[in-house]
Amino acid sequence: MRIMWLDSHCHITADKFSGDRSEVIERAREAGVDTLVAIGSGYGAEGNASAVDLASGDPRIFAAVGVHPHEASELDDRGRTEIRSQLEHPKVVAVGECGLDYHYMNSPCEIQREVFAEQVALARELDFPVVIHVRGDAPDAYEELLDIWIAEGRGELEGVLHCYTGTLPFARRALDHGFYVSFSGIVTFKRSEELRAVARGLPLDRLMVETDAPFLAPEGHRGRRNEPAWVPLVGETLARLHETSIDEVARITRANASRLFRLPEASVGSPGEPR
Ligand SMILES: [Zn+2]
Ligand SMILES: [Zn+2]
Repeated sequence: MRIMWLDSHCHITADKFSGDRSEVIERAREAGVDTLVAIGSGYGAEGNASAVDLASGDPRIFAAVGVHPHEASELDDRGRTEIRSQLEHPKVVAVGECGLDYHYMNSPCEIQREVFAEQVALARELDFPVVIHVRGDAPDAYEELLDIWIAEGRGELEGVLHCYTGTLPFARRALDHGFYVSFSGIVTFKRSEELRAVARGLPLDRLMVETDAPFLAPEGHRGRRNEPAWVPLVGETLARLHETSIDEVARITRANASRLFRLPEASVGSPGEPR
């Protein structure tokens, strides 16, 4: 039986796919990528709603809704109400992506922290996993993010650090606080030796793969629009680093994502007990 891949993070509702979205999804399936988590946040006010719409019409697409740190200063009460009601939809599986981005700093740090804390509290209240975006080092976004996660999550939450580009010691600490770590096409780039060392140093049973499409096309496709069909290229790199088969990486990363997002298949073939 062919093992199918799960792209744990893509922006398939982005405008860049508006001309050929169904072909892109079909191409992914032909490439063995049958399940997608469509991230609604980060693409303006309509992003969450389009992700929920897309997921509701396709059994193999799930959605995450939240407020991206870039858009933290745009959150108002109407947005809060919308997100709460979207979280009631059966195909919405996570809060996010949310977090801190001190690299681009599109919203002031203070507001980013408040809006992130609010979403962690919401995830705890409604019992959802959280998709986390963290970037930037001065002041240290990673440390502040973990502080907020611990204070607001109170040890009750699980999440994924998506498109991870941080250090190995931080990732190891994050695992102790309920995080999975997801790698994107960046880990395939020729110059990403350091990041590959991070990926090698983490246990496979806490890793996921993603495209973050339309951005970050993997090595061999750089400069082009990224798409979910290319997530196996990220998995191939992890297989090489962990000296295992590509099928094994597909199976484990899929089981990890299914467990975190509590997808219908989570009970089938996943190692260990859900936690
Ligand atoms: Zn992100
Ligand atoms: Zn993203």
